[in-house]
Amino acid sequence: MSKASFFSASPAFINDFVGLWGEKPFRARQLIHWHFRKRVFSVEAMSDLPQAFRERLEQEFSWHLPEIVSLLDADDGATKLLLKADRNQLIETVILRYPHRTALCVSSQVGCKLACRFCQTGKLGFFRHLSASEILGQFCLAESIVQKEGRTISNVVFMGMGEPLDNYDEVVKAVQILTDPEGFGLSHRKVTVSTSGLADKIVRLSEDVRVALAISLHACRDELRSDLMPINKRFPLAPLKEAIQHYQRTSDTKITFEYILIKDKNCSVREAKELVHFLQGIPCKVNLIPFNNHPGLPYERPSEEVIKTFQKYLMDRGFVATVRYSKGGDVSAACGQLAAKRVAGLGEVPQRLSVLTV
Ligand code: SF4
Repeated sequence: MSKASFFSASPAFINDFVGLWGEKPFRARQLIHWHFRKRVFSVEAMSDLPQAFRERLEQEFSWHLPEIVSLLDADDGATKLLLKADRNQLIETVILRYPHRTALCVSSQVGCKLACRFCQTGKLGFFRHLSASEILGQFCLAESIVQKEGRTISNVVFMGMGEPLDNYDEVVKAVQILTDPEGFGLSHRKVTVSTSGLADKIVRLSEDVRVALAISLHACRDELRSDLMPINKRFPLAPLKEAIQHYQRTSDTKITFEYILIKDKNCSVREAKELVHFLQGIPCKVNLIPFNNHPGLPYERPSEEVIKTFQKYLMDRGFVATVRYSKGGDVSAACGQLAAKRVAGLGEVPQRLSVLTV
């Protein structure tokens, strides 16, 4: 039987099993300190733990982090990591460096079921959910990379491969450990779950965790949104808005809306008006993301004039609307370009098109 991964161990679980092993409570505190505070992810390096305790930790748990298949640095401070998850499947994680913070974009699934038409991950289809330990493994691996630069991961965004709320239980478990004050201790405002709009799960999320929520919106007319995002047929705009407002009231956080601007598709004055109408009554900010052209997809980036006109329409009506020219373009880690080029057994597959903003 395969061992449980240590990377999905919560502080409460560590306290429990250390107690069950007959160790003193301070051993659990030491282990928690090494793992969550010092962010040391190898038992060998936990130098003040007794040898026998370390050996037992090695025997009982897997300490295996995802293996780096390739690491690509962009000129603008982004690093794209292609990782081998369990079962030899490939996923991607992107480190985004800013002057005062370091963000990590994590994947939650291998592939995706939702088939958004502007997204190459959707074209891949779905392979499987990632476990909480595989999600947190991305965090621990990235943390050990940026530690060498004197940085620490301050923000985590669930905007890599996959629809996080389709892998609800494992994503919530990972979020709980990331935001647990005894765990990695990230502020709930600094962990963002991005969804294409699974309205039922948005409501459930408001009951289970406190976390920043981003909605991939991209159109505010059901016919157009269903064309771009088939999930809209299951959760049309009206119930989606109700779920978002419920989440907003319950969690008291601003919602971020992601809106990819696609030439001749969703960025005329008509669509700007529809967006303004949809946003009424939702405290929010809007990230406008000019589409990243990609071979194999039938869409194009609009002109700068169209982008600015769309932004101005929103700002003139009192909305915070930012145009995000995403980081990492030269290594295909930018918004709309995040995907494993190879998935085990598939050979070359297209790049993902999805939302990557922080
Ligand atoms: S945009 Fe997100 S939800 Fe849609 S297919 Fe791509 S990964 Fe899935």
